[in-house]
Amino acid sequence: MNKEIQEIIERLHQNHSLELTEYKMLLDNISPEISEHLANLARVQQKQIYSNKIYIRGLIEISNICKNDCLYCGIRRSNKSCSRYRLTSEEILDCCEHGYGLGFRTFVLQGGEDSYFTDDVLCKLIKEIKEKYSDCAITLSLGERSYESYKALKEAGADRYLLRHETATKEHYEGLHPKEMSFDTRMECLKNLKALGYQVGCGFMVGSPYQTNLEIARDLKFIEEFQPDMCGIGPFIPQKDTPFGKESAGTLELTCYLLSILRLIKPNLLLPSTTALGTISPKGREMGILAGANVVMPNLSPMSAREKYTLYDNKSYLGAESAQCVKELADKMVSIGYEIVTDRGDIKL
Ligand code: SAM
Repeated sequence: MNKEIQEIIERLHQNHSLELTEYKMLLDNISPEISEHLANLARVQQKQIYSNKIYIRGLIEISNICKNDCLYCGIRRSNKSCSRYRLTSEEILDCCEHGYGLGFRTFVLQGGEDSYFTDDVLCKLIKEIKEKYSDCAITLSLGERSYESYKALKEAGADRYLLRHETATKEHYEGLHPKEMSFDTRMECLKNLKALGYQVGCGFMVGSPYQTNLEIARDLKFIEEFQPDMCGIGPFIPQKDTPFGKESAGTLELTCYLLSILRLIKPNLLLPSTTALGTISPKGREMGILAGANVVMPNLSPMSAREKYTLYDNKSYLGAESAQCVKELADKMVSIGYEIVTDRGDIKL
């Protein structure tokens, strides 16, 4: 490893901050040796704060109906091949009941931007979940909403909100989204969520179309400055019925490299090893943990919904990706020296 890169990594390790050009240098000089060095440093940080504990979240995909038309996403509104569904509040509560019994203490309600889920519907649902499972956290991932809406959902009991920024470069954002969607609105939403006191998650796809190392470096600098509580990154994977259906997927290697860098940027970050990572490689989930991730989000949705929440092709939802198979996941974690825990899994401050 050359001396300059070694010094950059040392600065990142000590100060949790780099110049944009330094992040870019790390990306321009990827090698197996540097990856391993970063992963070793990242694991030390992860273990210092979270020991060998892995937090689990039960992911409930509440609807694949979406008013948006993101060019990369399989549930975009113009995808006529997507068979649409929406879970009822009763079905969502059933998922929580089932998940609670399996040891989940965080429920993530994720979905497309479906106008059925008004503040009234969601607030009622959030209150019901919180009444039944007062020791659980609720994470929402339901896209862009107004400040007032985020406020109402927070007051109803939501604890966390995941809204990937997708890319910190405005022109890149415009290449991935239709004209009616705006980079500034996305960023505004993230600021509002933070101001309202949510534990906030941002994030981006690795290897999305038009993304170069400069865009990724800007993502890293944005994350360093925004200081989210959670950060979801996973490889972009093409979905055949979208405009990017023939693009190539992001890689396991680059995603793991970035997970390690993120752990060094913010040592206490809640960092999932994502389903997309588990989809591109059978060992993806484990590799993500070994690179510094400390969260996994197995699928708790009803089986019929899982087949339809097709953000990308061949999305995994069985085996260790399935909440029902939490034992299999637990064994996999043990095999690499980690342990899943029954815990809300809040950020350690
Ligand atoms: N509608 C909500 C939102 O916009 O945040 C949540 C659902 S959205 C489908 C969740 C995330 O899936 C997006 O933020 C995006 O990064 C990811 N995603 C969508 N299509 C993808 C693809 N083809 N490959 C990998 N990730 C994808």
